[in-house]
This record gives sequence, structure tokens and C-alpha cells, in this order.
Amino acid sequence: MLPKYKRILLKLSGESLMGDKSFGLDPAVIEKYARDIKEIVDLGVQVAVVIGGGNIYRGMNEGETGIERAHGDYMGMLATVINGMAMQAMLEKVGVYTRLQSAIKMEQVAEPYIRRRAIRHVEKGRVVIFGAGTGNPYFTTDTAGSLRAIEMQADVILKGTRVDGIYTADPEKDPTATKFNTITFQECISKNLRVMDMTAFTLCMENSLPIIVFDMNKPGNLRRVVSGEKVGTLVRG
Ligand code: UDP
Repeated sequence: MLPKYKRILLKLSGESLMGDKSFGLDPAVIEKYARDIKEIVDLGVQVAVVIGGGNIYRGMNEGETGIERAHGDYMGMLATVINGMAMQAMLEKVGVYTRLQSAIKMEQVAEPYIRRRAIRHVEKGRVVIFGAGTGNPYFTTDTAGSLRAIEMQADVILKGTRVDGIYTADPEKDPTATKFNTITFQECISKNLRVMDMTAFTLCMENSLPIIVFDMNKPGNLRRVVSGEKVGTLVRG
């Protein structure tokens, strides 16, 4: 079957890599995600990945840590490179060619971010992992994901989460919450639904980049999403 999307950007949170742990990385979870990614690479989908860093460090907690926000944000960006390296190792373990590109130069472990080179990699069937977010403090990896997806002319950004889509209210708190199959950017704003932070969301909206929010932990879901099955919630213009 031909996949619906030819080029995708997958955004995973750092926390998703923790599994049931309260900190750091769970290799079993990363390997599972690597196998899910392999499945869609084998379908011919061009894949770029952005992973967060929240399992290791977030820069925003200046009040708690006493570490200045911008300084902490750079620490957070470095955390995303650790996660990216872990994902790279697992992808290669399961037989997927990869490249890690970093928005902060660290040439011993990653290529610098070069847009045209990243595009060439995915065209050749390599999975490109973008580390170090946007390279700038005061941003998030959701924004990095949106930005890179737009730069790469991806067809869609796939936000893999623990819940299976966007709900009228938080389904973990409100049992009457119902799920949207599709929703427009405007509706998300008018209903005050938080899909991503505002910067990331606005980038997608202004550049007509659809977002699919789906449950990354359900086996086969990533393949279903790229195949065009109605999984999760599609946010569109
Ligand atoms: N970060 C940043 N600029 C970026 C991306 C990330 O400063 O472009 C920092 C920021 O401190 C953030 C941390 O890196 O808290 C980890 O990223 P994020 O919180 O987005 O990770 P996630 O929630 O997806 O695990």
C-alpha cells in the first residue's frame, strides 16, 4: 500500500523516552520507537525526527534551580542531543541508516544543521534526527519540530504523545471529554485547546503545515498514521 505522506517529521517528547522511569532513558522504549520508525522507512516514507529533552533537563525552571533561563535552555538543548544520539544508536541497531544534525555545533558527534543536506539524506532513505532544538534559548522542541518540518517541506508533523488525540478537555481528568478526529487551527484557538506551544502552533498555522496528534505507544500506530488511517486528531487549515 502506498503511504499517504511522502515526507514526515516525527516529534517525540523527551519524557516519552523515559517509559515508566522518572528520569533519563528507557532503552526498551527507544528500541520500540526505532522499530516503529523502521516500519515506515520500509514503506518508503522520508522521515525526520525531533526529540525533546524534558526527561533530562528543562531550562524554564529558573525559580527552582537558580540557573538563569537562557543558560538552562542551552542545557536543555544539549539534553536533546543525548536523546538524539540514543535514538540514532537504536535506529542503527534495527538496520536504519541515520544522520544526526545539531543546531549547536558539536562536530565530533553530529553534523551541523544544513537544510539542503538534511533533505538529501531523507531522499536517500536516511532518517535525519535534528538535535539541539532551534539552537536558540526561549524556544521549545515543538517549535524546532515545526520549523524543521516547514524547512524540509514535510507533508505533515506527527506529534507522538501518550493520548490518542485532541480532546474537548483533558481526558485524564474529565471522563466526559470527547475526541476530535479533525479540527481546524482556528477551532483550536477559539476553543482554547493547547496542541503545542503558541510559537510552534502559529508556525504550523501560518505555513499550512498539518499536525497529527496520536498515541505513539500503541503498536502499529505510526504506520497507520502515515498510511492515512484515521488515527489520532488531524489539525488542518
Ligand atoms: N530548548 C531551547 N530551544 C529550543 C529547543 C529546546 O532552549 O529550540 C530547551 C528548553 O529549555 C526546553 C528544553 O530544551 O525546556 C527541552 O526541550 P522541550 O522542553 O521542548 O522538550 P520536551 O518537552 O519535548 O521533552
